[in-house]
Amino acid sequence: MYTKSVAQLIEGLRGREFSSAELTRGYLDRIAALDSQYNSFISVDENAAMAAATAADERLASGDAAALTGIPIAHKDIFCTDGMRTSCGSRMLDNFVPPYDATVIQRFKTAGAVMLGKTNMDEFAMGSSNESSFYGPAYNPWDTKLVPGGSSGGSAAAVAGLLAPAATGTDTGGSIRQPAAFCGITGLKPTYGRVSRLGMVAFASSLDQAGPMAHSAEDCALLLNAMAGHDPLDSTSSNTATEDYCATLNNSLEGLRIGLPAEYFGEGLDSTTGECISGALRELEAQGATLVNVSLPHSALTIPTYYIIAPAEASTNLSRFDGVRYGYRCDDPVDLHDLYTRTRGQGFGDEVKRRILVGTYALSAGYYDAYYKKAQQVRRLIKQDFMDCFEQVDIIAGPTTPGPAFAVGAKTNDPVSMYLEDVYTLAVNLAGLPGMSVPAGFVDNKPVGLQLIGRHFDESRLLNVAHRFQQATDWHLRTPDAIARGVA
Ligand code: GLN
Repeated sequence: MYTKSVAQLIEGLRGREFSSAELTRGYLDRIAALDSQYNSFISVDENAAMAAATAADERLASGDAAALTGIPIAHKDIFCTDGMRTSCGSRMLDNFVPPYDATVIQRFKTAGAVMLGKTNMDEFAMGSSNESSFYGPAYNPWDTKLVPGGSSGGSAAAVAGLLAPAATGTDTGGSIRQPAAFCGITGLKPTYGRVSRLGMVAFASSLDQAGPMAHSAEDCALLLNAMAGHDPLDSTSSNTATEDYCATLNNSLEGLRIGLPAEYFGEGLDSTTGECISGALRELEAQGATLVNVSLPHSALTIPTYYIIAPAEASTNLSRFDGVRYGYRCDDPVDLHDLYTRTRGQGFGDEVKRRILVGTYALSAGYYDAYYKKAQQVRRLIKQDFMDCFEQVDIIAGPTTPGPAFAVGAKTNDPVSMYLEDVYTLAVNLAGLPGMSVPAGFVDNKPVGLQLIGRHFDESRLLNVAHRFQQATDWHLRTPDAIARGVA
Protein backbone atom coordinates (compact mmCIF):
# COMPACT_ATOMS: atom_id res chain seq x y z
CA MET A 1 0.00 0.00 0.00
CA TYR A 2 2.79 2.46 0.92
CA THR A 3 4.51 2.21 -2.43
CA LYS A 4 1.34 3.17 -4.30
CA SER A 5 1.16 6.53 -6.03
CA VAL A 6 -1.50 9.11 -5.18
CA ALA A 7 -3.17 8.25 -8.50
CA GLN A 8 -3.32 4.56 -7.48
CA LEU A 9 -4.55 5.41 -3.99
CA ILE A 10 -7.39 7.46 -5.50
CA GLU A 11 -8.43 4.41 -7.54
CA GLY A 12 -8.11 2.13 -4.52
CA LEU A 13 -10.35 4.39 -2.42
CA ARG A 14 -12.96 4.71 -5.14
CA GLY A 15 -12.88 0.96 -5.81
CA ARG A 16 -13.40 0.30 -2.07
CA GLU A 17 -10.15 -1.72 -1.89
CA PHE A 18 -9.43 0.13 1.34
CA SER A 19 -10.94 3.04 3.23
CA SER A 20 -9.36 6.38 3.99
CA ALA A 21 -9.48 5.46 7.68
CA GLU A 22 -7.42 2.31 6.99
CA LEU A 23 -5.01 4.19 4.78
CA THR A 24 -4.58 7.06 7.22
CA ARG A 25 -4.19 4.70 10.19
CA GLY A 26 -1.51 2.84 8.26
CA TYR A 27 0.50 5.98 7.59
CA LEU A 28 0.09 7.21 11.17
CA ASP A 29 1.39 3.84 12.40
CA ARG A 30 4.38 4.08 10.09
CA ILE A 31 5.12 7.59 11.36
CA ALA A 32 4.87 6.39 14.98
CA ALA A 33 7.12 3.41 14.30
CA LEU A 34 9.72 4.92 11.97
CA ASP A 35 9.94 8.67 12.27
CA SER A 36 12.41 8.49 15.14
CA GLN A 37 14.90 7.60 12.34
CA TYR A 38 13.99 10.44 9.97
CA ASN A 39 12.62 13.19 12.26
CA SER A 40 10.52 14.27 9.30
CA PHE A 41 7.50 15.47 11.27
CA ILE A 42 7.30 18.27 13.83
CA SER A 43 3.63 17.76 14.72
CA VAL A 44 1.15 14.95 14.16
CA ASP A 45 -2.43 15.11 15.41
CA GLU A 46 -3.68 11.54 15.06
CA ASN A 47 -7.21 12.31 16.25
CA ALA A 48 -7.68 15.14 13.76
CA ALA A 49 -6.28 13.01 10.94
CA MET A 50 -8.55 10.07 11.77
CA ALA A 51 -11.61 12.35 12.06
CA ALA A 52 -10.82 13.82 8.62
CA ALA A 53 -10.37 10.30 7.21
CA THR A 54 -13.73 9.16 8.60
CA ALA A 55 -15.41 12.23 7.12
CA ALA A 56 -13.70 11.46 3.79
CA ASP A 57 -15.02 7.88 3.89
CA GLU A 58 -18.55 9.22 4.37
CA ARG A 59 -18.07 11.53 1.44
CA LEU A 60 -16.76 8.68 -0.71
CA ALA A 61 -19.72 6.50 0.29
CA SER A 62 -22.22 9.20 -0.59
CA GLY A 63 -20.72 9.53 -4.09
CA ASP A 64 -19.82 13.18 -3.57
CA ALA A 65 -16.02 12.80 -3.49
CA ALA A 66 -13.71 15.61 -4.61
CA ALA A 67 -10.41 14.99 -6.43
CA LEU A 68 -8.27 14.04 -3.42
CA THR A 69 -10.95 12.83 -1.02
CA GLY A 70 -9.38 10.55 1.57
CA ILE A 71 -5.77 10.98 0.42
CA PRO A 72 -3.35 11.57 3.32
CA ILE A 73 -0.96 14.48 2.75
CA ALA A 74 1.79 15.98 4.91
CA HIS A 75 2.24 19.75 5.01
CA LYS A 76 5.42 21.72 5.56
CA ASP A 77 5.23 23.44 8.94
CA ILE A 78 5.34 26.83 7.23
CA PHE A 79 1.61 26.76 6.36
CA CYS A 80 -0.76 28.12 8.98
CA THR A 81 -3.14 25.44 10.18
CA ASP A 82 -6.22 26.45 12.14
CA GLY A 83 -5.90 25.12 15.68
CA MET A 84 -2.64 23.26 15.04
CA ARG A 85 0.83 24.53 15.91
CA THR A 86 2.73 26.16 13.03
CA SER A 87 6.35 26.49 14.14
CA CYS A 88 8.17 27.26 10.87
CA GLY A 89 11.02 25.24 12.37
CA SER A 90 11.70 27.99 14.92
CA ARG A 91 11.71 28.38 18.67
CA MET A 92 10.10 31.76 17.92
CA LEU A 93 6.86 30.04 16.85
CA ASP A 94 7.13 26.91 18.99
CA ASN A 95 3.97 27.97 20.82
CA PHE A 96 2.10 29.51 17.87
CA VAL A 97 -1.34 28.07 17.07
CA PRO A 98 -2.83 29.98 14.14
CA PRO A 99 -6.49 31.02 14.16
CA TYR A 100 -6.90 30.29 10.44
CA ASP A 101 -5.78 28.03 7.59
CA ALA A 102 -3.39 29.09 4.83
CA THR A 103 -5.13 29.14 1.45
CA VAL A 104 -3.08 26.08 0.42
CA ILE A 105 -4.35 24.15 3.47
CA GLN A 106 -7.89 25.35 2.82
CA ARG A 107 -7.72 24.17 -0.78
CA PHE A 108 -6.50 20.72 0.21
CA LYS A 109 -9.38 20.51 2.66
CA THR A 110 -11.82 21.48 -0.08
CA ALA A 111 -10.28 18.82 -2.33
CA GLY A 112 -10.93 16.27 0.45
CA ALA A 113 -7.34 15.51 1.48
CA VAL A 114 -6.51 14.33 4.99
CA MET A 115 -3.71 16.22 6.78
CA LEU A 116 -1.27 13.69 8.29
CA GLY A 117 0.86 16.25 10.09
CA LYS A 118 3.32 19.11 9.76
CA THR A 119 6.80 18.42 8.47
CA ASN A 120 10.25 19.45 9.64
CA MET A 121 12.06 22.28 7.88
CA ASP A 122 14.98 24.65 8.15
CA GLU A 123 14.19 27.54 10.49
CA PHE A 124 12.04 30.05 8.58
CA ALA A 125 12.94 28.06 5.42
CA MET A 126 16.53 29.31 5.51
CA GLY A 127 18.87 26.50 4.61
CA SER A 128 19.72 23.68 2.25
CA SER A 129 20.04 20.75 4.65
CA ASN A 130 17.25 20.95 7.25
CA GLU A 131 19.93 21.34 9.91
CA SER A 132 18.84 24.81 11.04
CA SER A 133 15.52 23.49 12.43
CA PHE A 134 14.85 24.16 16.13
CA TYR A 135 13.51 20.57 16.21
CA GLY A 136 16.79 19.04 15.07
CA PRO A 137 17.81 17.84 11.63
CA ALA A 138 15.69 15.58 9.46
CA TYR A 139 17.57 12.61 7.99
CA ASN A 140 17.67 11.20 4.48
CA PRO A 141 15.84 7.83 4.23
CA TRP A 142 18.40 6.66 1.62
CA ASP A 143 21.07 6.88 4.31
CA THR A 144 20.35 8.50 7.64
CA LYS A 145 23.92 9.78 7.86
CA LEU A 146 23.02 12.14 4.99
CA VAL A 147 20.96 15.32 5.02
CA PRO A 148 17.62 15.21 3.17
CA GLY A 149 18.25 18.68 1.74
CA GLY A 150 16.31 21.76 2.72
CA SER A 151 14.46 23.72 3.55
CA SER A 152 11.54 21.33 2.81
CA GLY A 153 13.67 18.42 4.08
CA GLY A 154 10.96 16.95 6.31
CA SER A 155 8.48 16.79 3.45
CA ALA A 156 11.04 15.12 1.18
CA ALA A 157 12.10 12.62 3.86
CA ALA A 158 8.49 11.79 4.72
CA VAL A 159 7.67 11.00 1.07
CA ALA A 160 10.93 9.13 0.39
CA GLY A 161 10.53 7.18 3.65
CA LEU A 162 6.96 6.24 2.66
CA LEU A 163 5.50 8.01 5.70
CA ALA A 164 3.23 10.06 3.43
CA PRO A 165 2.25 9.52 -0.21
CA ALA A 166 2.77 13.22 -0.98
CA ALA A 167 3.56 16.50 0.72
CA THR A 168 3.65 20.24 0.26
CA GLY A 169 6.81 22.31 0.28
CA THR A 170 7.88 25.86 -0.40
CA ASP A 171 10.73 27.09 -2.56
CA THR A 172 12.41 30.49 -2.22
CA GLY A 173 15.69 29.52 -3.86
CA GLY A 174 15.48 25.74 -4.29
CA SER A 175 13.76 24.37 -1.19
CA ILE A 176 11.38 22.07 -3.06
CA ARG A 177 13.73 20.99 -5.86
CA GLN A 178 16.92 20.42 -3.88
CA PRO A 179 15.41 18.14 -1.18
CA ALA A 180 13.40 16.36 -3.89
CA ALA A 181 16.69 15.67 -5.69
CA PHE A 182 18.47 14.50 -2.51
CA CYS A 183 15.63 12.17 -1.53
CA GLY A 184 14.86 10.71 -4.96
CA ILE A 185 11.37 12.18 -5.29
CA THR A 186 9.63 14.56 -7.71
CA GLY A 187 9.07 18.20 -6.76
CA LEU A 188 7.61 21.20 -8.55
CA LYS A 189 8.12 24.87 -7.79
CA PRO A 190 5.35 26.64 -9.69
CA THR A 191 5.58 30.06 -11.34
CA TYR A 192 5.64 32.91 -8.82
CA GLY A 193 1.99 33.80 -8.22
CA ARG A 194 0.54 30.45 -9.37
CA VAL A 195 -0.19 29.34 -5.80
CA SER A 196 -1.43 31.63 -3.03
CA ARG A 197 1.04 32.70 -0.35
CA LEU A 198 -1.69 33.66 2.13
CA GLY A 199 -0.98 32.02 5.46
CA MET A 200 2.46 30.81 4.41
CA VAL A 201 4.99 32.26 6.87
CA ALA A 202 6.92 34.80 4.78
CA PHE A 203 10.67 34.46 4.18
CA ALA A 204 11.39 36.47 1.00
CA SER A 205 8.04 37.61 -0.36
CA SER A 206 9.12 38.22 -3.96
CA LEU A 207 10.61 34.70 -4.22
CA ASP A 208 8.52 32.36 -2.00
CA GLN A 209 6.26 29.88 -3.75
CA ALA A 210 4.50 26.72 -2.57
CA GLY A 211 4.36 23.51 -4.56
CA PRO A 212 3.87 19.74 -4.49
CA MET A 213 6.37 16.99 -3.60
CA ALA A 214 5.51 13.38 -4.47
CA HIS A 215 6.87 10.27 -6.13
CA SER A 216 5.81 11.11 -9.67
CA ALA A 217 4.98 13.97 -12.00
CA GLU A 218 1.44 12.62 -12.28
CA ASP A 219 1.02 12.91 -8.50
CA CYS A 220 2.47 16.44 -8.57
CA ALA A 221 -0.12 17.32 -11.24
CA LEU A 222 -2.92 15.98 -9.05
CA LEU A 223 -1.70 18.12 -6.14
CA LEU A 224 -1.12 21.20 -8.27
CA ASN A 225 -4.70 20.95 -9.53
CA ALA A 226 -5.79 21.38 -5.92
CA MET A 227 -3.30 24.14 -5.03
CA ALA A 228 -3.16 26.44 -8.05
CA GLY A 229 -5.31 29.45 -8.74
CA HIS A 230 -6.03 33.06 -7.96
CA ASP A 231 -6.63 34.03 -4.36
CA PRO A 232 -8.37 37.38 -3.81
CA LEU A 233 -6.62 37.53 -0.42
CA ASP A 234 -3.10 37.43 -1.96
CA SER A 235 -2.52 40.41 -4.23
CA THR A 236 0.57 38.73 -5.73
CA SER A 237 -1.38 35.65 -6.79
CA SER A 238 -2.02 35.53 -10.51
CA ASN A 239 -5.24 35.80 -12.49
CA THR A 240 -3.77 33.67 -15.29
CA ALA A 241 -6.15 30.77 -15.90
CA THR A 242 -5.19 27.44 -14.38
CA GLU A 243 -5.25 24.24 -16.42
CA ASP A 244 -6.08 20.64 -15.70
CA TYR A 245 -2.45 19.67 -15.17
CA CYS A 246 -3.28 15.98 -15.62
CA ALA A 247 -4.81 16.46 -19.07
CA THR A 248 -1.56 16.99 -20.99
CA LEU A 249 0.74 14.57 -19.15
CA ASN A 250 0.89 12.14 -22.05
CA ASN A 251 1.51 14.62 -24.86
CA SER A 252 4.27 13.59 -27.25
CA LEU A 253 7.72 15.13 -26.87
CA GLU A 254 8.23 15.08 -30.64
CA GLY A 255 9.72 18.42 -31.68
CA LEU A 256 10.30 19.66 -28.11
CA ARG A 257 13.37 21.88 -27.92
CA ILE A 258 15.39 21.52 -24.71
CA GLY A 259 18.01 24.14 -23.87
CA LEU A 260 21.18 23.07 -22.08
CA PRO A 261 22.86 26.10 -20.46
CA ALA A 262 26.65 25.86 -20.72
CA GLU A 263 26.89 27.38 -17.22
CA TYR A 264 25.01 24.42 -15.69
CA PHE A 265 27.39 21.79 -17.02
CA GLY A 266 30.76 23.33 -16.25
CA GLU A 267 33.13 23.43 -13.33
CA GLY A 268 31.59 22.52 -9.98
CA LEU A 269 29.32 19.77 -11.29
CA ASP A 270 30.14 16.35 -9.87
CA SER A 271 31.07 14.11 -12.80
CA THR A 272 28.83 11.14 -11.95
CA THR A 273 25.91 13.49 -11.37
CA GLY A 274 26.66 14.94 -14.80
CA GLU A 275 26.58 11.46 -16.33
CA CYS A 276 23.15 10.81 -14.83
CA ILE A 277 21.88 14.06 -16.33
CA SER A 278 23.36 13.16 -19.74
CA GLY A 279 21.63 9.78 -19.57
CA ALA A 280 18.31 11.47 -18.82
CA LEU A 281 18.76 13.89 -21.71
CA ARG A 282 19.46 10.95 -24.07
CA GLU A 283 16.14 9.43 -23.00
CA LEU A 284 14.30 12.67 -23.79
CA GLU A 285 16.09 12.81 -27.14
CA ALA A 286 14.99 9.25 -27.86
CA GLN A 287 11.42 10.45 -27.37
CA GLY A 288 11.79 13.08 -30.07
CA ALA A 289 13.17 16.11 -28.22
CA THR A 290 16.02 18.16 -29.68
CA LEU A 291 18.87 19.32 -27.45
CA VAL A 292 20.06 22.89 -28.04
CA ASN A 293 23.11 24.52 -26.44
CA VAL A 294 22.19 27.80 -24.79
CA SER A 295 23.79 30.25 -22.37
CA LEU A 296 22.68 32.07 -19.22
CA PRO A 297 25.54 34.57 -19.15
CA HIS A 298 24.71 36.14 -15.75
CA SER A 299 24.65 32.79 -13.90
CA ALA A 300 27.76 33.63 -11.90
CA LEU A 301 25.85 36.53 -10.31
CA THR A 302 22.87 34.55 -9.03
CA ILE A 303 24.29 33.60 -5.62
CA PRO A 304 25.40 37.14 -4.66
CA THR A 305 22.15 38.60 -6.01
CA TYR A 306 19.96 36.16 -4.14
CA TYR A 307 21.96 36.57 -0.93
CA ILE A 308 21.23 40.31 -0.97
CA ILE A 309 17.55 40.16 -1.97
CA ALA A 310 16.43 37.19 0.13
CA PRO A 311 18.04 38.38 3.41
CA ALA A 312 16.81 41.96 2.76
CA GLU A 313 13.22 40.76 2.44
CA ALA A 314 13.68 38.35 5.36
CA SER A 315 14.95 41.12 7.63
CA THR A 316 11.75 43.11 7.09
CA ASN A 317 9.42 40.10 7.24
CA LEU A 318 10.96 38.86 10.48
CA SER A 319 10.71 42.24 12.22
CA ARG A 320 7.18 41.23 13.27
CA PHE A 321 8.57 38.66 15.72
CA ASP A 322 9.07 41.02 18.61
CA GLY A 323 7.64 39.19 21.62
CA VAL A 324 4.58 41.44 21.64
CA ARG A 325 2.19 40.15 19.01
CA TYR A 326 2.58 36.38 19.07
CA GLY A 327 5.18 33.68 19.41
CA TYR A 328 8.05 33.43 21.87
CA ARG A 329 8.53 36.04 24.60
CA CYS A 330 11.55 36.14 26.92
CA ASP A 331 11.04 35.88 30.68
CA ASP A 332 10.76 38.99 32.88
CA PRO A 333 11.80 41.79 30.52
CA VAL A 334 12.91 44.90 32.41
CA ASP A 335 11.83 47.29 29.65
CA LEU A 336 10.73 47.31 26.01
CA HIS A 337 14.25 47.26 24.60
CA ASP A 338 15.16 44.31 26.79
CA LEU A 339 11.95 42.55 25.64
CA TYR A 340 12.85 42.95 21.97
CA THR A 341 16.50 42.05 22.22
CA ARG A 342 16.22 39.04 24.47
CA THR A 343 13.11 37.71 22.70
CA ARG A 344 14.82 37.88 19.32
CA GLY A 345 18.19 36.80 20.66
CA GLN A 346 16.70 33.68 22.25
CA GLY A 347 13.93 32.98 19.74
CA PHE A 348 15.98 32.96 16.52
CA GLY A 349 18.75 30.52 15.59
CA ASP A 350 22.16 31.40 14.12
CA GLU A 351 21.31 31.20 10.40
CA VAL A 352 18.23 33.38 10.82
CA LYS A 353 20.26 35.96 12.77
CA ARG A 354 22.93 35.93 10.06
CA ARG A 355 20.30 36.68 7.40
CA ILE A 356 18.71 39.46 9.47
CA LEU A 357 22.11 41.10 9.93
CA VAL A 358 23.00 40.86 6.23
CA GLY A 359 19.56 42.04 5.15
CA THR A 360 19.41 44.96 7.55
CA TYR A 361 22.85 46.07 6.40
CA ALA A 362 21.89 45.84 2.72
CA LEU A 363 18.79 47.96 3.30
CA SER A 364 20.37 50.59 5.53
CA ALA A 365 20.64 54.22 4.42
CA GLY A 366 23.78 54.72 2.39
CA TYR A 367 24.04 51.05 1.39
CA TYR A 368 20.59 50.58 -0.12
CA ASP A 369 21.60 51.80 -3.59
CA ALA A 370 24.92 49.98 -3.56
CA TYR A 371 23.45 46.62 -2.55
CA TYR A 372 19.69 46.22 -2.72
CA LYS A 373 19.07 48.41 -5.75
CA LYS A 374 22.04 46.93 -7.59
CA ALA A 375 20.85 43.41 -6.79
CA GLN A 376 17.42 44.24 -8.21
CA GLN A 377 19.06 45.50 -11.40
CA VAL A 378 21.12 42.33 -11.74
CA ARG A 379 17.98 40.28 -11.03
CA ARG A 380 16.44 41.87 -14.12
CA LEU A 381 19.45 40.79 -16.23
CA ILE A 382 19.22 37.23 -14.87
CA LYS A 383 15.55 37.09 -15.84
CA GLN A 384 16.35 38.49 -19.28
CA ASP A 385 18.85 35.66 -19.86
CA PHE A 386 16.01 33.16 -19.44
CA MET A 387 13.66 35.16 -21.66
CA ASP A 388 16.31 35.14 -24.39
CA CYS A 389 16.73 31.37 -24.08
CA PHE A 390 12.99 30.81 -24.31
CA GLU A 391 13.07 32.47 -27.74
CA GLN A 392 15.03 29.41 -28.90
CA VAL A 393 13.80 26.56 -26.71
CA ASP A 394 10.64 25.33 -24.95
CA ILE A 395 12.24 24.21 -21.71
CA ILE A 396 15.68 24.34 -20.10
CA ALA A 397 17.28 21.28 -18.48
CA GLY A 398 20.26 20.61 -16.25
CA PRO A 399 21.17 19.22 -12.85
CA THR A 400 19.15 20.28 -9.79
CA THR A 401 22.25 20.30 -7.55
CA PRO A 402 26.02 20.13 -8.09
CA GLY A 403 26.17 16.70 -6.42
CA PRO A 404 24.17 14.26 -4.31
CA ALA A 405 23.22 14.57 -0.63
CA PHE A 406 26.10 15.36 1.74
CA ALA A 407 26.74 14.12 5.27
CA VAL A 408 24.94 15.60 8.26
CA GLY A 409 27.29 18.20 9.76
CA ALA A 410 29.52 18.48 6.68
CA LYS A 411 28.63 22.10 5.88
CA THR A 412 27.14 23.49 9.07
CA ASN A 413 30.22 25.58 9.85
CA ASP A 414 30.66 26.88 6.33
CA PRO A 415 27.62 28.93 5.26
CA VAL A 416 29.11 29.81 1.87
CA SER A 417 29.59 26.17 0.87
CA MET A 418 25.98 25.59 1.97
CA TYR A 419 24.84 28.53 -0.21
CA LEU A 420 26.65 26.99 -3.21
CA GLU A 421 24.24 24.04 -3.04
CA ASP A 422 21.62 26.26 -4.69
CA VAL A 423 23.76 27.44 -7.59
CA TYR A 424 21.43 25.87 -10.20
CA THR A 425 18.10 26.57 -8.50
CA LEU A 426 18.22 30.19 -7.26
CA ALA A 427 17.97 31.91 -10.63
CA VAL A 428 14.62 30.25 -11.30
CA ASN A 429 13.13 32.07 -8.28
CA LEU A 430 14.82 35.36 -9.19
CA ALA A 431 13.14 35.07 -12.61
CA GLY A 432 9.80 33.85 -11.18
CA LEU A 433 9.81 30.77 -13.43
CA PRO A 434 8.46 27.26 -12.76
CA GLY A 435 11.07 24.56 -12.06
CA MET A 436 10.99 20.86 -11.30
CA SER A 437 13.29 18.17 -10.01
CA VAL A 438 12.84 14.64 -11.34
CA PRO A 439 14.73 11.52 -10.17
CA ALA A 440 17.36 10.69 -12.80
CA GLY A 441 19.81 8.18 -11.36
CA PHE A 442 22.15 7.51 -8.47
CA VAL A 443 25.69 8.28 -7.37
CA ASP A 444 26.80 5.55 -4.91
CA ASN A 445 23.17 4.80 -4.01
CA LYS A 446 22.44 8.51 -3.49
CA PRO A 447 19.66 9.96 -5.69
CA VAL A 448 20.32 12.55 -8.41
CA GLY A 449 17.75 15.07 -9.69
CA LEU A 450 17.23 16.37 -13.23
CA GLN A 451 16.04 19.97 -13.19
CA LEU A 452 13.51 21.17 -15.77
CA ILE A 453 12.76 24.90 -16.08
CA GLY A 454 9.81 26.27 -18.04
CA ARG A 455 8.29 29.49 -19.31
CA HIS A 456 6.09 31.44 -16.92
CA PHE A 457 2.86 29.50 -16.24
CA ASP A 458 4.00 26.55 -18.37
CA GLU A 459 3.75 24.04 -15.49
CA SER A 460 1.78 21.69 -17.72
CA ARG A 461 4.73 21.35 -20.10
CA LEU A 462 7.19 20.57 -17.29
CA LEU A 463 4.82 17.96 -15.88
CA ASN A 464 4.33 16.52 -19.35
CA VAL A 465 8.08 16.15 -19.97
CA ALA A 466 8.64 14.70 -16.50
CA HIS A 467 5.75 12.25 -16.90
CA ARG A 468 6.95 11.00 -20.27
CA PHE A 469 10.42 10.56 -18.80
CA GLN A 470 8.94 8.59 -15.90
CA GLN A 471 6.98 6.36 -18.28
CA ALA A 472 10.31 5.25 -19.73
CA THR A 473 12.42 5.09 -16.55
CA ASP A 474 12.03 3.71 -13.04
CA TRP A 475 14.25 6.01 -10.97
CA HIS A 476 11.18 7.52 -9.30
CA LEU A 477 9.86 4.07 -8.33
CA ARG A 478 12.95 3.00 -6.40
CA THR A 479 12.75 3.06 -2.63
CA PRO A 480 15.53 3.07 -0.07
CA ASP A 481 16.87 -0.43 0.64
CA ALA A 482 15.86 -0.57 4.27
CA ILE A 483 12.27 0.20 3.33
CA ALA A 484 12.27 -2.35 0.53
CA ARG A 485 13.59 -5.00 2.95
CA GLY A 486 10.88 -4.11 5.46
CA VAL A 487 13.27 -3.10 8.24
CA ALA A 488 12.40 0.61 8.11
N1 GLN B 1 18.78 27.36 0.45
C1 GLN B 1 18.25 28.65 0.11
C2 GLN B 1 18.34 29.55 1.32
O1 GLN B 1 18.86 29.11 2.28
C3 GLN B 1 16.84 28.53 -0.37
C4 GLN B 1 15.89 28.23 0.70
C5 GLN B 1 14.48 28.14 0.21
O2 GLN B 1 14.22 27.93 -0.97
N2 GLN B 1 13.53 28.35 1.14
O3 GLN B 1 17.88 30.64 1.33
